[in-house]
Amino acid sequence: MSLDTLPPLRESLAAHGLMANKAFGQHFLLDLNITRKIVRLAELSPGDRVIEVGPGPGGLTRALLEAGARVTAIEKDVRFRPLLQELALAATPDALVLIFGDALEAHESVLIEAEPAHVVSNLPYNVGTPLLIKWLTGPWRPASMTLMFQKEVAERIAARAGDDAYGRLAVIAQATSHAASVMDVPARAFTPPPKVDSAVIRLTPRGDRPSPVRLDALQTLTAAAFGQRRKMLRASLKALGGEPMIEAAGLNPQARAETIDVAGFLRLADVWLDRR
Ligand code: SAM
Repeated sequence: MSLDTLPPLRESLAAHGLMANKAFGQHFLLDLNITRKIVRLAELSPGDRVIEVGPGPGGLTRALLEAGARVTAIEKDVRFRPLLQELALAATPDALVLIFGDALEAHESVLIEAEPAHVVSNLPYNVGTPLLIKWLTGPWRPASMTLMFQKEVAERIAARAGDDAYGRLAVIAQATSHAASVMDVPARAFTPPPKVDSAVIRLTPRGDRPSPVRLDALQTLTAAAFGQRRKMLRASLKALGGEPMIEAAGLNPQARAETIDVAGFLRLADVWLDRR
């Protein structure tokens, strides 16, 4: 069997008696036109290594394999093992490696033998944000990420200072990566449809990514500043250095966190580190 002779995804699911399980955040993309479009947006080259979290019935996995990617797919729901093994047999030998377990606990650099790898995934809603934080903050860093999120989370990743959705996630994502929303996907495109629409976000690493120490400082400061986002910085950052630190970073102590851009938070991190 080859990829183009596989039955449609709906038939594969039915043949294996599989239904979506809410506990695993399962909303499937069964239209290969959509999964192929997501893979085009990932801008992969044949032979690229890709980590996919949550292959489920394998719609995105099929499109990745068609594009010539070498895929390591991590799935928590073992019910999908027989179906995914059929897909692995239909693909080029060794093009699909299946791992059954929790992606939050995966050691990516071990799984992909320290080669550079991209992440492409229609993420489960319940663990999408912690997985993104894990990949943004390292130690393992993907060559790029093309990820489906709930629209509201996608907005929080790509938001700019002053936007309602601007917060910690935007600062950490944009300090480490170039982040852009590249495709809107309506709820009806999924089986079963979730309550909200989704969007695909593409993230590529910044050349001037902060060092691990600077990134830790950024996490500490943004946790304090956005933990009390309605307060002025001089109050929310009082315990971390207060007005003198904020002024040394060239910022107004009366400003609120939501108005400080990523560069401003990076200056704060530098001053905080200098003064420790
Ligand atoms: N990629 C498939 C698609 O697009 O049709 C399925 C996407 S579905 C939104 C999320 C998938 O992630 C499910 O297959 C689910 O079982 C799996 N999953 C949920 N939590 C997981 C975890 N912690 N680690 C790995 N996979 C997980």
